[in-house]
Amino acid sequence: MGTIIGAGASMLREDDVSTIGSGAEATTADVDFDVVVVGAGFAGMYLLHRLRGLGLSARVIEAGADVGGTWYWNRYPGARCDIQSVDYSYSFDPELDETWKWTEKYAPQPEILRYAQHVADKHDLRRDIQFSTRVESAVWDESTSRWQLRTSDGRTITSRFYVMATGCLSMPKEVDIAGTDRFAGEVYFTSRWPHEGVDLSGKRVGVIGTGSSAIQSIPIMAAEAAQLTVFQRTPNFSMPANNGPIPQEKLDALAKGRPQYREAARWSGAGVTVEISTTSALAVSEEERLAKYEDVWEHGGIIQAINSYMDNLVNPAANELLCEFVRNKIRATVNDPETAEALCPKTFPIGTKRLCVDTGYYETFNRPNVRLVDLREHPIASITETGVDLVDESLEFDVIVFATGFDAMTGAIVGVDITGRDGLTLKQAWSEGPKTYLGLMAAGFPNLFMITGPGSPSVLSNMMVSIEQHVDWIADCIDQLRADGLSTIEPTPAAVDGWVQHVNDYANITLMPQANSWYMGANVPGKPRVFLPYAGGVDRYRTICNEVVADDYLGFERRGPDGQRRNDGVVRRVQPDVQLMLEAMAGMNLPTMDSMSAAEAREFSNAIAAQRAPGPDVGEIVDGVLPGAAGDLTYRLYRPASPGPHPIVVYFHGGGWVLGSHDSDDPLCRDLCVRSDAILVSVDYRHAPEARFPAAADDAFAATQWIAENAAALGGIPGDLAVAGWSAGGNLAAIVSQLARDAGGPRIVGQLLLTPVTDCDFSRASYTENADGYVLTTPLMHWFWNHYADPEDRTSPKASPIRAETLADLPPAMIVTCEFDPLRDEGAAYAEALAAAGVPVRHLPCRGQIHTSLPAVDMLLSGVPIRAEMAAAIRGFFTANVPA
Ligand SMILES: Cc1cc2nc3c(=O)[nH]c(=O)nc-3n(C[C@H](O)[C@H](O)[C@H](O)COP(=O)(O)OP(=O)(O)OC[C@H]3O[C@@H](n4cnc5c(N)ncnc54)[C@H](O)[C@@H]3O)c2cc1C
Repeated sequence: MGTIIGAGASMLREDDVSTIGSGAEATTADVDFDVVVVGAGFAGMYLLHRLRGLGLSARVIEAGADVGGTWYWNRYPGARCDIQSVDYSYSFDPELDETWKWTEKYAPQPEILRYAQHVADKHDLRRDIQFSTRVESAVWDESTSRWQLRTSDGRTITSRFYVMATGCLSMPKEVDIAGTDRFAGEVYFTSRWPHEGVDLSGKRVGVIGTGSSAIQSIPIMAAEAAQLTVFQRTPNFSMPANNGPIPQEKLDALAKGRPQYREAARWSGAGVTVEISTTSALAVSEEERLAKYEDVWEHGGIIQAINSYMDNLVNPAANELLCEFVRNKIRATVNDPETAEALCPKTFPIGTKRLCVDTGYYETFNRPNVRLVDLREHPIASITETGVDLVDESLEFDVIVFATGFDAMTGAIVGVDITGRDGLTLKQAWSEGPKTYLGLMAAGFPNLFMITGPGSPSVLSNMMVSIEQHVDWIADCIDQLRADGLSTIEPTPAAVDGWVQHVNDYANITLMPQANSWYMGANVPGKPRVFLPYAGGVDRYRTICNEVVADDYLGFERRGPDGQRRNDGVVRRVQPDVQLMLEAMAGMNLPTMDSMSAAEAREFSNAIAAQRAPGPDVGEIVDGVLPGAAGDLTYRLYRPASPGPHPIVVYFHGGGWVLGSHDSDDPLCRDLCVRSDAILVSVDYRHAPEARFPAAADDAFAATQWIAENAAALGGIPGDLAVAGWSAGGNLAAIVSQLARDAGGPRIVGQLLLTPVTDCDFSRASYTENADGYVLTTPLMHWFWNHYADPEDRTSPKASPIRAETLADLPPAMIVTCEFDPLRDEGAAYAEALAAAGVPVRHLPCRGQIHTSLPAVDMLLSGVPIRAEMAAAIRGFFTANVPA
């Protein structure tokens, strides 16, 4: 045990140490620990406390001279938190929670730093922290299964586990303005403000940058300086802090039960309990909306503002309403209209960059000693010995303050030269953007953990809550490894890829990627543009992390002297918005349709349909009646707004031949009509069990014939038709294509088959893999078939089109299948069979989607690109007769 510091407390078992061969490290390492933690901010401090509690030997290495991290370094005037202090504080120590009293709603930096120091004193943390030391490199030593760290004092430290608690906003961004080092006056960075403070009185001060730090400090600097010039590249949205005493309702909530209050925050979306709206900003009157915004402006904070309406961060139109409200506040505050307009953000949706909180920021621009320089109009040519040269003006300063932000989320991590397994460096591994599993670990870097790393909620949340969650997860993980006699853990490449995909999927259903923000790495030249934090929320993220553990560390490989445990897998494969829909449905405890009679099931599905989003407006809707195979059928015609005549698509609704009607896929028909600029005629057909096989197919074909004959009267282009349908409707569209081919008309130029029923065979893998849990279940498919067709009829091509004698000479097809759908494999099989028969076919498999995703227009943002492709296919049918 020679190299193990605090050997009595070490987690390592005797056999473990001997297996790993600690003799080698004794000659190279100055000291060895179970865990080395980099950074003594709130994350590193709490982790040290937890590790000690587990009896592990731990050392924290910190570049600063004391604890506090962010609050140690960022001492600029006006620095304070933007999450209320009663929330932005540790919850792990109830005694601390009870005894520490915050003086203000948003505590200033000195008070938050004192809090960090108080925690360090209370838990005697400093004795295991090495201050004023940087970790410069870290190399994984495969032979000893340990990390070898080199520090700025020239020492080498080894450790079994290595944790980057280096902070998301701790690495200042390099200034990318020419001539920065030429300036002969005083230069300050908000992120490295001198401890003794700065006297700005009587001085001409230039501030470069208008991010959060600038917005907090500018009002205070303006009050002190003789002149203050603010150089702004991109204006930011800021709202008033309304700072003051801690609100009574917070105090009341805490008094009612502090543990419950803290627990609620842990299970909230952003780590703070706020009211979450379930209303669209577009669904209320302007008066009601403005009153809500006004209330948030006067009393709320950034998280309340974002959550004021449910679609603020997902719907551009809803977002723009809030943007304009804030812009109007700016216009009403700033006297000079030109300056006001320059301060109004117009190039990104609100909330897609961190919303700022200020005290008198916009008012400051009414001071006679303050000037705003809009760098979009007057770019900086260079910094000179005496000031700043714009392209059209020279300005002189005594002081320049850089408030230029951080290389966020990844800067401090890749700031250490980290080399993992097989010589792979983290910089190489992340050259296209960070790739992590859960924001906690990276593949190829065993036993390296990150706290609030990229791919976790981190900067989109109250960081205290996210820090505590990560620390607890990591400490528990190390403890579990010890209990299991294992010594290393790392994620599998598949788990990492799956998580990166999930993080991107989440970002892509929000407006977040639309801003050139530091969330996207866009503030640092050359940094890959990827959305860095996890937008799914603290609550969902915590659920996932817990699930991974409960599922025997899904996605991780763990090794030890006794062997290897690899539990490969992807923790979230369903699209995030589909998952939300499934969760909402699960919460409703809905009955299963296959337990109902056909009449009950119809009533039930009509009730569900009544609650859906309506879909876009089309030029005209005409309801009518046409002759079917055995009586009249209703239809609904959707006409585009553009001048006709238009190509016609005959559309067949879904519903397992039992449910639905000519208007039951209304939102999808509207959407396809608008996107493809074609007429859609959605036709009803007789339903089972009242009219069993082949009634639906006969009606579908009769309706198609009638529409072909009456195309001109319907406003369509005569001659060519396409057919389309979803689910059982896809089955009918495929069958109509075959019947038309065999009958020599009508001429069908394309078939768009959306998750179609093509076969009566239940043995394909998708039937077992997706038997339950994705709305359309295997039992429900049995129920549909039983209502529709006798077993001996099902193999007819008029029920199972894949069984046709030949599939040759059918119209070009686009077949869309969804990953989590019992019908997935029969759709894919039909695409393959058509292609084998020489039919031009495009198969679009939709990752993470379920059977009911495609018609869920305006409910699933992840469906938008799919519907765009479907519409492109329709256009392609009529222009080139080949699928798009
Ligand atoms: C001005 C400002 C205001 C903020 N306000 C809020 C707020 O209101 N609410 C909120 O949730 N979040 C806020 N944040 C985010 C804030 O960073 C986190 O809340 C939290 O303080 C982060 O704690 P941490 O321990 O993870 O990282 P940090 O506090 O950043 O600490 C990381 C430490 O690691 C050290 N370090 C880094 N690399 C090395 C190395 N190679 N060797 C040695 N040491 C190293 C750094 O010196 C630093 O002290 C704010 C950030 C800033 C900059």
